[in-house]
Amino acid sequence: MKLPVNKGPEDLKKEVLEQGLCSCCGGCIGICPYIKAVREKVIITDNCGIKEGKCYNLCPHTPTDNSRLEKGIFGATGKDPALGRYVSIKQSRATNRRVQASGQYGGTVTALICSALERGEINRTLLTQGFNQRKADKDPLLPTARLAKNSKGVLECSGSKYTACPTLSLLGEAVNDKRNMTGVVGRPCQVTAVRKLQDIEPETFRSRVPLIIGLFCMWALSYRDFKSFLAARGRIPSVRKIDIPQEDFVIFTRGKPIRIPFEQIKELIRPSCELCPDFTSELADLSVGATEFDEDWNTLIIRSKKGQEIIDQALDDGAIELKEFPPEKLEILKRAASDKKKRVRAILKRR
Ligand SMILES: Cc1cc2nc3c(=O)[nH]c(=O)nc-3n(C[C@H](O)[C@H](O)[C@H](O)COP(=O)(O)OP(=O)(O)OC[C@H]3O[C@@H](n4cnc5c(N)ncnc54)[C@H](O)[C@@H]3O)c2cc1C
Repeated sequence: MKLPVNKGPEDLKKEVLEQGLCSCCGGCIGICPYIKAVREKVIITDNCGIKEGKCYNLCPHTPTDNSRLEKGIFGATGKDPALGRYVSIKQSRATNRRVQASGQYGGTVTALICSALERGEINRTLLTQGFNQRKADKDPLLPTARLAKNSKGVLECSGSKYTACPTLSLLGEAVNDKRNMTGVVGRPCQVTAVRKLQDIEPETFRSRVPLIIGLFCMWALSYRDFKSFLAARGRIPSVRKIDIPQEDFVIFTRGKPIRIPFEQIKELIRPSCELCPDFTSELADLSVGATEFDEDWNTLIIRSKKGQEIIDQALDDGAIELKEFPPEKLEILKRAASDKKKRVRAILKRR
């Protein structure tokens, strides 16, 4: 295997971890026993001594040849400058009421993963759980990675957790057998990490990770800062759901919802997110986000042939429904995506 860049764990430590640029995707942890996450902090526990490593090469914050990755995924490179390569953009939601209710918005991601599992397209999925969705979760604010193998497990992971989680830390375990077909749901940084790994080691990671669903993501919060912020204001609540409708950040608890002005939440964003230009998970098979003007629905971007197949099957199964994305809203979506890119370019120019 020839690695794209001749660098390894020491370089990862110097260029990413020590610079506060790690987005805690979990990719390096998933392929190396010497890298761990302590809560959301990724650390190299031992010096493996190798000069070149997949850990450096898969990191979403090390140099990335996007054109090469796009060619590998989509077979072509032409793309929309704001949203990346796509076939079509729709509004979508789960048809099952229970899935809709447990989902963040329309429950599209949950419905698609359940449908792909039932169809045997995948037999496991890397997901992110939290908010005491299982008894083992002690801290309602700290999401954890989960390898879900059936619909029950997928439903237990529904809902957005706005702190970073090293979901990909279970990737090695997920693909350890060639019969395993793993789906991945992740933030844009996580999608990029898996795509880089597929490029580095296609024999293992292309065929064994046949489906990647990316979330739209402007930023994730620092768990540590978020927890301290809430602790300074009283008891850490029992969280049911977190949402960001317009101006506020809202924590729905078993009691009264807690509203935090967005200006205060901004202080808690992970520094790595300020340098991520990708709002819509441009390298995913399918990308799913909110629909701000229609909150029970999702915005769905169908990007790859595999993504289209998964959507066609979910429609055949009656797992999701689609409607047209209003053409007059497309510019707003594109503006949000290109503003993120512009912000990153401006930060990099100032450095
Ligand atoms: C940190 C973060 C920031 C986001 N920012 C935006 C935004 O700015 N604009 C926008 O339109 N949408 C954003 N989203 C996406 C949005 O919140 C929904 O996840 C998306 O619309 C899918 O909705 P759904 O109803 O299909 O979700 P569901 O069916 O509930 O599925 C949600 C899926 O997300 C996964 N997930 C939850 N939390 C995380 C996490 N921290 N890391 C990785 N995977 C996770 C779960 O495993 C689950 O499978 C963000 C999501 C996250 C996690």
